[in-house]
Amino acid sequence: MKKIAIIGCGISGLYLANLLEKSLDYDYKIFEKKSDLNLSAGYGIQLSVNCVKLLNEIGFQNISKNEIFFPKRINFFDAKTTNKICDIEISKFNDEKNRYTTIKRSTLIQFLLNNLSSQRIIKNVELKDIQYGKKIKLYLSNNEIDEFDYLVVSDGVFSKTKSIILGKEIKPKFFNSMALRGNIKNVNSNDISLYLGPNFHFVIYPLNQKNEFNFISIIRKQLSKSQILQEKAFASKDFVETLTSEIYQKTSIDLKGKLENIKSFPIYVSEKFIKYKKNNIYFVGDALFALPPSFAQGASQSIEGSKEVYEAIKNGTNNYYEKRLTKLKQINIRSKLNHFSFHLSNPLIIFLRNIVLKYLSKNNKFLEKYLGKIYRN
Ligand SMILES: Cc1cc2nc3c(=O)[nH]c(=O)nc-3n(C[C@H](O)[C@H](O)[C@H](O)COP(=O)(O)OP(=O)(O)OC[C@H]3O[C@@H](n4cnc5c(N)ncnc54)[C@H](O)[C@@H]3O)c2cc1C
Repeated sequence: MKKIAIIGCGISGLYLANLLEKSLDYDYKIFEKKSDLNLSAGYGIQLSVNCVKLLNEIGFQNISKNEIFFPKRINFFDAKTTNKICDIEISKFNDEKNRYTTIKRSTLIQFLLNNLSSQRIIKNVELKDIQYGKKIKLYLSNNEIDEFDYLVVSDGVFSKTKSIILGKEIKPKFFNSMALRGNIKNVNSNDISLYLGPNFHFVIYPLNQKNEFNFISIIRKQLSKSQILQEKAFASKDFVETLTSEIYQKTSIDLKGKLENIKSFPIYVSEKFIKYKKNNIYFVGDALFALPPSFAQGASQSIEGSKEVYEAIKNGTNNYYEKRLTKLKQINIRSKLNHFSFHLSNPLIIFLRNIVLKYLSKNNKFLEKYLGKIYRN
């Protein structure tokens, strides 16, 4: 029986655990730094069809339809005037069984936890040191030492485990952007609405069939090194209010009094793609590479990556990093391009961008290359 350690109980670690759970060939443990997983948060996540297909392999199709939503279209608007620029029919990438889905992140995490025994998840523990021999020896923060055949590193964008394994401190880079994330009430649309403004954009989408909606805004912010380190300041009510008032002033859509549970946080991305050689250690999800959020693919890629790790362990193949990094590079470029074009501020360039968007959003060849290539795994 192969023994596998998973570090980090996020979307990627939990999806892998679900795959391992279905086979008697594996014994696994998940080590999670936190004492509890936040299952009450009301904000959402978009899951593209490539990811839904993989989730359906572990029973996602049986989740109550009340808890999910299948948006058909992304509508692009000018945030200032609220004039519609164009729309993209994302449902065209769906097939009979797999549909583009939006959901509360906490509902997804709960679904991923449902089939796992709580004894598999060891909370309040992180990796302290590692020794390589015939097996991988892990020295854990609870003073336990345990041996495994495989180690899967899925502890997110600030992965400490990555620094321990690579023997040098690896820090993600501040993406010169802040996120505002929470809920919005009194929305009258069943589509994904994307509002583009100078140096910011925001997205509104349904979370389920219960009339609950997600609000997420990405705002460009140049911060000094000392400002970035003031984590508590980002969480303060004053800071959230400063960012929300900035958005209120730049859009004619009336958001005041509609936003709820809004939190702000800085966005970090990975700088370099790591090429790792050892065949029994896998980095996955944000620990492998954290993407900018403007293509909404981080979680979907975490799930795709975990599926590939599972196949590599099952079949003993060693092309995981090659295949994964090729896909991540394609998405990284698209995410950065989206971020750039969503945030343009020169009126003439915006005018031209909107013409290009109108044309491309109806060009099937382009859509197939830009989205289809990523959405069909
Ligand atoms: C603003 C924003 C919006 C986004 N929207 C979308 C979207 O709509 N669609 C989409 O697909 N993606 C989206 N993403 C990206 C997505 O959220 C991430 O890519 C995804 O959650 C990564 O999953 P993960 O399992 O790799 O890491 P995480 O979900 O971060 O999980 C890591 C886990 O490891 C634990 N941990 C951390 N350090 C340690 C340690 N040292 N030891 C043990 N455990 C540890 C953490 O507590 C956590 O439980 C968005 C990201 C942002 C910032």
